[in-house]
Amino acid sequence: MSKFEQQNFNKEKALIRVDFNVPVKDGKITDDTRIRAALPTIKKVLNDGGSVILMSHWGRPIKDMAKKPELTPADFSLSRIVAHLSGALGTEVQFAADCIGAEAADKAAALQPGQVLLLENLRLHKEEEKGDEAFARELAQLGTFYINDAFGTAHRAHSSTAVIAQFFPDDKKSFGYVMEGEVNAAEKVMKNAEKPFVAIIGGAKVSDKILIIENLLDSATDIIIGGGMAYTFFKAQGGSIGNSLCEDDRFETALNLLEKAKARGVNIHLPEDSVIADKFDAAANTQLSDNNNIPDGWMGLDIGPQATEAFVKVITASRTILWNGPMGVFEMEKFQAGTKAVAEAVKAATDKGAFSLVGGGDSVAAVNKFGFADKVSYVSTGGGAMLEFFEGKELPGIAAIKK
Ligand code: AMP
Repeated sequence: MSKFEQQNFNKEKALIRVDFNVPVKDGKITDDTRIRAALPTIKKVLNDGGSVILMSHWGRPIKDMAKKPELTPADFSLSRIVAHLSGALGTEVQFAADCIGAEAADKAAALQPGQVLLLENLRLHKEEEKGDEAFARELAQLGTFYINDAFGTAHRAHSSTAVIAQFFPDDKKSFGYVMEGEVNAAEKVMKNAEKPFVAIIGGAKVSDKILIIENLLDSATDIIIGGGMAYTFFKAQGGSIGNSLCEDDRFETALNLLEKAKARGVNIHLPEDSVIADKFDAAANTQLSDNNNIPDGWMGLDIGPQATEAFVKVITASRTILWNGPMGVFEMEKFQAGTKAVAEAVKAATDKGAFSLVGGGDSVAAVNKFGFADKVSYVSTGGGAMLEFFEGKELPGIAAIKK
């Protein structure tokens, strides 16, 4: 039983930091995954006989309002999600039009067991993102117990995600189910990976993934590099990559990585071949090419069949799998085969008992698109937070509760 599960919230007023940064179009929520993800944590507190005060951010109001004067705080109000949240929870949710101040304090004080209060968007106060202590203290006074269930912002040292925790004693703060699940999955891969451990790293840019690859050199058995970032490695070694994506200022970084991997006995797998296209377009002409000889005017947009076969072999022989970033432009049908084959291989390995964690925006989008989300061990919801975790950084939102 997890620590959160064991906790009894009877008569507690649980101040829960959730991530309700849901997509909204024309006033309607278009994807309520994040709201649904938070329900078990909220229900646990209510079922124990506690009450709940929910706090979240939505968008980037201060930055956006500075850029577009026609925007007002109402455009960022969490009041728009109250009805949806009430329906999902099966309990009427109250709302405080400011996350601090008299209204929030009065409504929080009046909450009875079983009742839920949602606070207005935290980021309407600039203090939130600054990690202001006085602001955090004022939020803290609303509840008797602090729960952080917002993994997506765990890499930010904001008032509500990290700074606030100091105002609660150790036995009055914890992760919720979402955070617990994310942290357990990430730690299982990062600290207790059963070998062979393969990291599959793809996506557009080497520069975005350097730190994660470097950190994984300490723990991975194999690192597969696919997607647009692979071509920088080929050109750095003297290959011709045509018009494929390339970061010319990263040649040294790429060569260094290959050397470090060799020195540490980590196998780096670069794709041997590619599906190349004569333009970046869903209707482009395509052919196959080896990655050292891509003709001018052509670009690699997916891994080719030889690379796919080699990658699948490594993945299916692994006991732990971390996947971040697609193998090609999977959004277009002509360039999705490599990413799809990798998803299938991750599923096959998982079926054989491997632990597989898919994290980072676009690989999550890919497993969802191909219907593999429930066929891997864990799909992380926190893109930036997960990336920083695997870069080896301490996440303030985790440290604040664990310390
Ligand atoms: P990232 O956010 O860095 O993980 O990159 C994901 C994006 O990289 C996706 O939108 C893919 O379409 C894109 N991508 C993957 N492979 C390639 C490639 N070979 N050329 C151009 N873009 C790519």
